Amino acid sequence: MPILRQIAQLGQPVLRGTMEHVADPSTPSVQSLIDDMLATVMDANGVGLAAPQVYEPISLFILASRPNQRYPDAPMMEPLAIINPELLWKSDEKEQGWEGCLSIPGLRGFVPRHQRIGVRYQTRDSKMWEVEYTDFLARVFQHEYDHVQGIVFIDRVASTLDLMTEQEYLRMQQSYT
Ligand code: ZN
Repeated sequence: MPILRQIAQLGQPVLRGTMEHVADPSTPSVQSLIDDMLATVMDANGVGLAAPQVYEPISLFILASRPNQRYPDAPMMEPLAIINPELLWKSDEKEQGWEGCLSIPGLRGFVPRHQRIGVRYQTRDSKMWEVEYTDFLARVFQHEYDHVQGIVFIDRVASTLDLMTEQEYLRMQQSYT
């Protein structure tokens, strides 16, 4: 049975460390970590979760975009474990969008991200993939990829004026609709 993992909060050194390459994705410890992270990201209404966020300093994250309470407009996808990701190329074009992070509760930031990226990674069956992501999925990928480099979204805002509490963010969203 998967176990819900505790999520490391900003200030925990594991979020800022160096992540290790996953030598063999097929090991039982990696496979059960993936199962735990899938359960944890669903439970927390996340659209992604990186291994350092559950105190595991390795190069692995979950992409799990779907509409939920925290991201009502997120596209639906089958949750996917991304192992040893590499960023192959990125578009010059950037887009600003609102992000939050399960490790930084209560805060949202207006973060510039590359609109298109080309990436390479392994899946839990050890297969290697090269994929292009655009828009929201490219954003989530870049957010999680940052986590496995020890970077968090507040490092990426152009100005601290682009940060907002979750409460004010929700108030702003409601005033738009
Ligand atoms: Zn995050």
